[in-house]
Order: sequence, then C-alpha cells, then structure tokens
Amino acid sequence: MTSYDPEILQLPFYEDAHRALAAEAGAWCDARRVLWEETRELDPDAAGRRLVRALGEAGWLAGLDPEGPAAPEDFRTVCLRREALAYAEDLADFAYAIQALAATPIVRFGSGAQRADWLPGLAAGTLIGSFAVSEKEAGSDLAAVALAAEKGADGSYVLNGRKAWIANATIADVFVVVARTGEGPGPLGLSALLVPADTPGLRVEPVDATAPRSFGHLSFEDCRLPAGALLGRAGRGFVVAVDLLERFRTTVGAAALGFARRAFDTALAHTRSRQAYGATLFDLQLVKGRLADMEIELNAASLLVARAAWETDRGSRSFARHSNMAKVHATEAAQQIVDSAVQLLGAAGIVRDGVTERLYRQIRSLRIYEGSTDVLRMAVAGSLDMRRATRTTA
Ligand SMILES: Cc1cc2nc3c(=O)[nH]c(=O)nc-3n(C[C@H](O)[C@H](O)[C@H](O)COP(=O)(O)OP(=O)(O)OC[C@H]3O[C@@H](n4cnc5c(N)ncnc54)[C@H](O)[C@@H]3O)c2cc1C
Repeated sequence: MTSYDPEILQLPFYEDAHRALAAEAGAWCDARRVLWEETRELDPDAAGRRLVRALGEAGWLAGLDPEGPAAPEDFRTVCLRREALAYAEDLADFAYAIQALAATPIVRFGSGAQRADWLPGLAAGTLIGSFAVSEKEAGSDLAAVALAAEKGADGSYVLNGRKAWIANATIADVFVVVARTGEGPGPLGLSALLVPADTPGLRVEPVDATAPRSFGHLSFEDCRLPAGALLGRAGRGFVVAVDLLERFRTTVGAAALGFARRAFDTALAHTRSRQAYGATLFDLQLVKGRLADMEIELNAASLLVARAAWETDRGSRSFARHSNMAKVHATEAAQQIVDSAVQLLGAAGIVRDGVTERLYRQIRSLRIYEGSTDVLRMAVAGSLDMRRATRTTA
C-alpha cells in the first residue's frame, strides 16, 4: 500500500541501493498495520517509546552509529525512510526523525567518548534522544537563545533558564541543548551541550499539540554538567544547530510527501468508488481537475526533495538553498493536497481519527518547525544575489 512514485525513484538522483531500500521500507511499513493501530491507542509517550524500540529492533536506526555494524545512511535514504513512515503513521515518522535529529550532531561533532556513550543506544532504540534549541523568545531567531550555561574553573557548566516546544521532551534520555556560554555576542556566544534527562535541576512540562505526540518545555535550575558535556567547540553552538537544521529540512519535505501521497491515494480511491449523479465522483470534471492539481504538486514536491537530498549527499555548496526550497514547496503543497483530500471526501473527510482528519492535524506543524515557510522564503531570497553572481560569471 505504501507508495513511492516509481518514476521519481528511477531518476538519476537515486542509485539502485535507494530503490532497493524504498521497496524494503515500503513493505516493512505495510506489514506493520497492527503496530500502527495499537500505538494510536496508546498515550503519545508510551507510543513514542514503543515506536523507537520497534524501529531500533528492525534496524531502521542502525545507521545513526558510524562505529556500529551498519553503514551510515545518506540523506536520500533518510528521506525515503521518512516518506514511507509518514505515509504509514505520523508518530512512527516522528519517532524516527527526532532520534536522527538528536544523534546527528553527536555523530558530526561528538568526541569519541560522547559517541561511545550515546550512539549505540540511540541506534538500537534503547535510548531516546531530543534536540533542544528553541525558546519562547528564540524560535526563528536562533541567535537570541538565552538559556545560560555558566562555565566553572574546572570546565563544568551550570545551566539556568528554559527551552520551549521540544519534541521527545517527555521521553528523552538525552538532550542536545544549545545554550549561551558567552564567547561572543549573539550567535558567536552559543555552545551545544549534552544533557542526560536525569540531571538534577532539569524539569519537563508536557505540552498538548494538535497532533498528539511527546512534546514539551524544559526548565533548568542550577543544572550542573561536567566539562565532558560540551559538544564540539565552545562558541560553535549556532553552527551545530544551523548545520543540523539545513540538512534535516529536506527530510521534513520528504515527510510532507508521505502525508500528501497518503491523502492523494485516499482521495483517488474515494472518488473512484463514490457514486453520484449516476456515475462516480471521479467522472466530474472539477473533481478530475482537483486530482490533477494534486498529482502535479506531488510531482513538483518529489522532484525538489530528490534534488535537495542529492545536493546534500554530493556535498554541494548550495545544498542549503535546495533544502530550503524543497521544504517550503513540499510542506505548503502537502497542506493543500491534504485539504483537497478532505474536500473530496466531504463529511467523511472530517470524522475524528479518520485518515484525512488525522492528516489534516498532522501536516500543519511541518510548515512551522525547522524553519517556518516565511523564514525560508527570506533565506531563498537572500541566496538570489549569490546565484546571480554565479550565473554572470559562468
Ligand atoms: C511540532 C513541533 C515540534 C518542534 N520540535 C522542536 C524541537 O524538537 N526542538 C526545538 O528546538 N524546537 C522545536 N520546535 C520549535 C520550532 O523550531 C519553532 O516553533 C520555530 O522555529 C518557530 O519559532 P516560533 O514558534 O517561536 O515562531 P516565531 O519565531 O515567533 O515565528 C512566528 C512566525 O513569524 C514569522 N516570522 C518569524 N521570523 C521571520 C522572518 N525572519 N521572516 C519572515 N517571517 C518571519 C513567520 O510567519 C513565523 O511562522 C517545534 C515546533 C513544533 C510546532
């Protein structure tokens, strides 16, 4: 049932290993219908724990530990995995994505000891990770992060302040936290730190979201961390956060594709079977027009995501520009496609916990987190001068 677009997968952006992975991932998700149904009945924290464990046991997270037996996975693979999971079950995509989001800065910037402490558990799904940069007064404006990390003479840090809107806040074993260490002004005075969830002084306040999930605010009161908690270099926390978000934006676009494809397939099946005016809904021209628009948008979004993931994997200097465009288009298009699916199902489309009603709630936040649409449009506009200069000198 899980559908990738086979024509998109055949494009030279992908290699045979990606095509094989897509077939395997889709089949795995299709065979887990009971798991998805059971976890939907659980509270979001219990569901999150169960899904991380299931993904770990099935090897979906193994690539998060470069020292482990599995090969690290490229961004095309991460995107294909997210697309399959989002098609099947939002919470499974969430479990996979946040685990990868938390592990990646440890992989890219962690010391040998930090990698050995955390990556095997994150890759096995026996530990849960979270990445915490946002604050109530520092969302889009990352450089405004205020959580204070005061450094002691022995190199230890004491955290005081808050984080807001953090995925996995209520179930994480470890947080990658960006805090103000004061090496310089604004973005130059931030550092990334690894904070175990059982550190005295760390408290979690759950937040109920439109689409239920493990989510909340963090408060730190005289939270003491050893010198070994520093992830990467002091004063480089902004770089750690931006490096991560620029890479993961494409994967948010891939998740949006999964939601949109599920909505499209649901709407197409409904319009083909729904009898109306002596024929089916599908026979109406305006319905065909709406489905055609959905298909065109899906294709455009798939192409942008494939291109951005390919640019990231080949180490292109302009990969961030492509990940920004892919996220904006794929998430905005997915919102429209899900809305059209609800419209085409009529009243059946808004029944609580039906497929389209769930998708309607689940898609919304993708246009906000990891760079909201407006912020990324500004970034794309900001890249135009550079692009014009390249064109002129070519
Ligand atoms: C479901 C969910 C999960 C999340 N998970 C995490 C997580 O795990 N870790 C984490 O650290 N954070 C997380 N966040 C927080 C997320 O990163 C922020 O919500 C996001 O960065 C936007 O910040 P904000 O909510 O403070 O909105 P604001 O920064 O106040 O922005 C609100 C709006 O103002 C406009 N705007 C702001 N700046 C600009 C600009 N420069 N140009 C044009 N328009 C602008 C945009 O319309 C924007 O949507 C999550 C959020 C959600 C909804």
